[in-house]
Amino acid sequence: TFATSGSSIDSSLLKIQRATALKPKPVFDNSLPFGKFFTDHMLEIEWDEKDGFSAPQIVPHHPLSIDAAAPCLHYGVQCFEGMKAYKDKSGVVRLFRPDKNMKRLNDSCQRLSMPMFDGNQFIECLKQFLKVDRDWIPDKDGFSLYIRPTVIATSSSLGVHPAHHALFYVIACPVGPYFKDGFAPVKVLAESKFKRAWPGGTGCNKVGGNYAPGLLPQKMAAQQGYSQVLWLFGEEDYVTEVGSMNFFVFWKRADGKRELITAPLDGTILPGVTRDSILELTREWREFEVSEKTFTMADLINAANEGRVIEIFGAGTAAIVSPINGISYMGKEYAIPCGKDGRAGELSTRLFHELCDIQYGRKQFRDWSVAI
Ligand code: PMP
Repeated sequence: TFATSGSSIDSSLLKIQRATALKPKPVFDNSLPFGKFFTDHMLEIEWDEKDGFSAPQIVPHHPLSIDAAAPCLHYGVQCFEGMKAYKDKSGVVRLFRPDKNMKRLNDSCQRLSMPMFDGNQFIECLKQFLKVDRDWIPDKDGFSLYIRPTVIATSSSLGVHPAHHALFYVIACPVGPYFKDGFAPVKVLAESKFKRAWPGGTGCNKVGGNYAPGLLPQKMAAQQGYSQVLWLFGEEDYVTEVGSMNFFVFWKRADGKRELITAPLDGTILPGVTRDSILELTREWREFEVSEKTFTMADLINAANEGRVIEIFGAGTAAIVSPINGISYMGKEYAIPCGKDGRAGELSTRLFHELCDIQYGRKQFRDWSVAI
């Protein structure tokens, strides 16, 4: 496969091997589970330290065959992305800010000493893949195709050293709305013992190693009836992220000014595409202050006790916006205001619709929605 390879990904070399039999598709309704039904094909690009990148291939979705010694299986030498393709009213398939995912994947590769790559060429291959599996992209509002670009180190050696060989691949699955029963607020548990990320670590990268350690605290939170973990950091209990989403507080500051605040990208925070989009949109509105600043649980609880919290929500590709109506911290639960009748608040609702409109091509904003 390396006969025509080069030092960078070359989408013009892409080969397509179509599946001989297509799989039955699941029904695109609220019963559609996340991440269970994969499309007929996948995209694969190999990398070798001597030969560079292989010709990209679209092949039937298949199990991987890698050496049992592969570093991705032992030392977590692996990173990934999460993005979506949307079908608009006229049937055009759209990606949302795919350059951002490519930048983040490249940063993750660099952090793990894996090969960096040309994001534009990768997107070209991805577009071809989406054309081949186009029928798997639901055309209903709220539905989309979840795309999982992945990079794994596949060398046949147990040594702890940078990858000699890597596989870039992309799989995809149709997904329905995150909130099956409507856009409903959830309660979260502020976690004081377990940390998600720390200065100098990999919190700002999308590497598998960040996620496995979150499973136990997530399970413990669920057992207590909370749907997500609110990740804190440091003696001061700085508020960082929630579950696998960035965390936003819309409050009135002590000086009376309204402010939308989220933790800054100091290396411990994943640079979410949704986070960045919310910051850019709200800054453009010029209706309130928009800040990327550290804040602590004490700041948050003071504001809640003084009735200054307007709304709180998580933000990420899966849910877009996930409103929060309660936070448990050190054994006490704090109620967070939401909209009428226990529904989402005004800002969460507006951001949700605004982002959906852009993603589904109903509204244009800059070059964020990329038709394939
Ligand atoms: N934080 C973490 C830890 C995540 O895993 C994700 C999902 N990628 C996010 C935030 C949200 O990022 P995005 O908006 O790019 O989906």
